[in-house]
Amino acid sequence: MDDCIFCKIIKGEIPSKKIFEDDEFLAFHDVNPQAPLHFLVIPKRHIPNIMETAEADAGLLGRLLFRSQKIAAGLGFGEKGARFVINCKADGGQTVDHLHCHVLGGRSLQWPPG
Ligand code: 5GP
Ligand code: ZN
Repeated sequence: MDDCIFCKIIKGEIPSKKIFEDDEFLAFHDVNPQAPLHFLVIPKRHIPNIMETAEADAGLLGRLLFRSQKIAAGLGFGEKGARFVINCKADGGQTVDHLHCHVLGGRSLQWPPG
């Protein structure tokens, strides 16, 4: 998508602090971190949000979560844990319409969210 911020990050047109990259996913630090650790994992394929996935995307969604935890564990958050969040559309608080998993760690997070 030409006007998608995250597609531009994937293409290198917008700089980012990359943590991980393979053929399917890119992970990078959030520009406005809400915790000492706050990174995003995104599929390289433009998918607007989790509601716009199909049965055929089930494997990708599983790998998105698996990759998220592997990166968090690799950064040393396996012991204390982290939060894995996917916001969706207006009521879910999504502001960038390219599917992404937030990973937040390094402080004790509250529940429920505001
Ligand atoms: P959402 O609100 O859609 O779940 O999360 C979007 C996230 O993307 C926000 O946490 C926001 O700080 C982050 N973000 C927006 N634009 C950029 C950018 O250009 N670079 C990076 N690294 N993060 C961004
Ligand atoms: Zn995109």
